[in-house]
Amino acid sequence: MRSFIYESLPGRVVFEPGASRTRLTGEVEQLGAERVLLIVTEHEKGLAEELSAPLENRVVGLFTEVRPHVPVEVAEKARELAEEVGADLLLCVGGGSTTGTAKAIALKTALPIIAVPTTYAGSEMTPVWGMTEAHRKTTGNSRDVLPKVVVYDPELTFSLPPFITGPSAMNAMAHCVEAFYAPGANPITSLVAEEGIGAIARGVPAAVEDPEDLEGRSETLYGAYLAGAAFAVAGSGIHHKICHVLGGAYDLPHADMHTVVLPHAVAFNEPAIPKTMDRVARALGEGLATEGAAAGLYDLAGRIGAPTALKDIGMKEEDLDEAVVLVMEKAPEDNPRPVNEVGVRGILESAFWGKRPAPVSQKSL
Ligand code: NAD
Repeated sequence: MRSFIYESLPGRVVFEPGASRTRLTGEVEQLGAERVLLIVTEHEKGLAEELSAPLENRVVGLFTEVRPHVPVEVAEKARELAEEVGADLLLCVGGGSTTGTAKAIALKTALPIIAVPTTYAGSEMTPVWGMTEAHRKTTGNSRDVLPKVVVYDPELTFSLPPFITGPSAMNAMAHCVEAFYAPGANPITSLVAEEGIGAIARGVPAAVEDPEDLEGRSETLYGAYLAGAAFAVAGSGIHHKICHVLGGAYDLPHADMHTVVLPHAVAFNEPAIPKTMDRVARALGEGLATEGAAAGLYDLAGRIGAPTALKDIGMKEEDLDEAVVLVMEKAPEDNPRPVNEVGVRGILESAFWGKRPAPVSQKSL
């Protein structure tokens, strides 16, 4: 018997190559905004100014002090600027850190956000905010931070170099995979996630090989959108918990860490939910599905030149014991397979050395 709760989130999505140049002004006008605060990194400032030029004197402020994981002092400065210029709309152009900065302003002011994502992080689809203080990240959930409009323009991702493209797409892949068994999972989020897995697996090899391959970019960004949408409703599981802990304790690069850990978190869960993981494997498509989801995800990371071992992205072997303890403190109680110390050690050691997960046929609980 089916039984589920599905709560859809509001929001308007415009997805089209070139949309950031042809449709942004119309979207701002539709919201009736007159005083736009533009939020962007120093690196993407030129692009954002170019995109917002048609808005002319409606852009009343520019905030460029975006930092990874939104330090509280950055959030405070951004809020002060929003207040000072009397902003009535936040326009963020960039990756998850930039979207996160806009969210930090909206959390206190409830100002509407238009997001123009330039990576595959997916934050623009979620009501989740995050901020850091003294290396500790706090996250929360608020409808106020969910962007009112998201303008997806695959052409904006042409400039993402392969070393960011691959891991950023695998970060989106992690949202899709965990959406299948996270606490809020339901048949609708699974459908969305399944489509997202296929789109990313089809798109990202082409996007890495030729950064201006519009079809590859479009598929990957479409997959990232679906990933964010599924994750926003379903939530996350053991994989995200591990990444949250490792990222906070050892300052590992966010998307790289997701890429490395995902196959091993999946390998851990695979024997407990074989049908679900078989669906994930099949969604990866031909050539990646035959030995199961974990092996398929590991092979995809290798195929796109993304990292596959924690030792290669800044983690030290002597930190493994402490990491097991830290993860156990946050271990989710509702993981499909009960999480214990042996299991966590297995995941972390395999991820540390970058071992290819065994084919699913050789696994048991
Ligand atoms: P990021 O925003 O820090 O961007 C990574 C790098 O890519 C930066 O140096 C940026 O300048 C550069 N960049 C961005 N777009 C580019 C482009 N088109 N061309 C060239 N360079 C470009 O990283 P991210 O991976 O996008 O986001 C990670 C952050 O997002 C983390 O803090 C994570 O916690 C957060 N996140 C939040 C949610 C949520 O729901 N709240 C979801 C996913 C991720």
